[in-house]
Amino acid sequence: PHSYCHLGIDIGTSGCRGAAVAPDGARLTSHAIAVEAPLRNGATVEQDPALWWTALQQVLTELARALPCPPRTLAIDGTSATLLLTDAEGAPLGSALMYNDARARTQADRIAGVAPDDSGAHGASSSLAKLLWWLEHHPGQTGRAAHALHQADWLAGCLTGRFGLSDENNCLKLGFDPVERAWPAWLNALDLPTHLLPQVSPPGTPLAPIRPDLARQLGLPRNLQIIAGTTDSIAAFLATGADRAGEAVTSLGSTLAIKMLSDHPLFAPKYGIYSHRLHDRWLVGGASNSGGAVLRQHFSDGQMADMTPALRPEEPTGLDYYPLPGVGERFPVCDPAMAPRLSPRPEDDVIFFQGLLEGIAAIEARGYALMRELGAPSLASIRTVGGGARNPAWTRMREVRCGVAMVAARETEAAYGAALLGVG
Ligand code: ADP
Repeated sequence: PHSYCHLGIDIGTSGCRGAAVAPDGARLTSHAIAVEAPLRNGATVEQDPALWWTALQQVLTELARALPCPPRTLAIDGTSATLLLTDAEGAPLGSALMYNDARARTQADRIAGVAPDDSGAHGASSSLAKLLWWLEHHPGQTGRAAHALHQADWLAGCLTGRFGLSDENNCLKLGFDPVERAWPAWLNALDLPTHLLPQVSPPGTPLAPIRPDLARQLGLPRNLQIIAGTTDSIAAFLATGADRAGEAVTSLGSTLAIKMLSDHPLFAPKYGIYSHRLHDRWLVGGASNSGGAVLRQHFSDGQMADMTPALRPEEPTGLDYYPLPGVGERFPVCDPAMAPRLSPRPEDDVIFFQGLLEGIAAIEARGYALMRELGAPSLASIRTVGGGARNPAWTRMREVRCGVAMVAARETEAAYGAALLGVG
């Protein structure tokens, strides 16, 4: 009964997923295919962008066949800080440097010398560090380089034929200043050919219609607007349905990450707290080193599922653990030398498991409390995504410690969240 819909594409670490939503936000259909894993070699992690483009065309073809109504908009999210260089026509100049590529250490040092503390461009995996690395190591090709693009930017360009466009979220780690909505002046100190930097729009801004030849080939309407996308974690946040100040999403995957909507931005570089601009609000985020990776050091997913019914959330163990996978913590405690606190270990594995879950829940609660102390809105509710979301006993432990309602996420797929950018 809908006359049109909106498409979202999530190009992630292991595959490409697409989703269609109705104007009222109802999910209509989705499709996913796997993409060959990136090539890892020590600190370097690379992938051939042609793999993304092939996967995207396959997913769009399948989606187009299954759609009950014509799509009006298409938004793409990709992994944050995955960067590639292209020529003026958008042809890649080599492989993409993936989000977790950490080779650009000396470039990160150069950035640290000029960027303010609260810039998103710090660290060896930032897209700015990768751009500087590329320029230093491809002196013969810098003349041909026309665009520095993220995964989502490049794919949007492939669809429209217009390259050099990006969004405020993807560009945070390239140094873009989301408060001033501009490329900052300190970039000049890096001797960067600034024509490589993309033109930046807010997520959801119309970029250009799909190329007519591609529309025909993929079975999509010629008036399909490609709109500015976002990063994968922001798309996953949008998917949950959180949309008011104080509404938060905890991601309980390998690591524990928390994000909260706020009326104003918040930056606390010491703790790795940064803010993305999102519609007329800000998305404040922080990530602990704790999380599900610690659980997996002790138990398999099957063991955890078996033990879960025996957990006693109403009877705390009193173990007071601080579970970490190794030495060092960033948020909500900033201490690079912090050691995990995981003793004494009780004989009963269920009690040990419960102690670990309580410890991670305490870190989550401390994270939200710290954000509040630093000026974030008071916490209104928490939605949960990631593997830990399927543990109801853990949800109860967390509810008690955080002191707010745990709300079911509407959806958890980033592709769905990207599609919502078109709904507005
Ligand atoms: P990733 O960040 O790797 O994408 P996922 O969102 O897939 O992670 O979540 C995987 C994590 O979920 C694992 O680290 C594991 O410890 C955790 N997990 C799996 N099953 C359970 C469970 N029953 N209770 C709590 N945590 C679980």
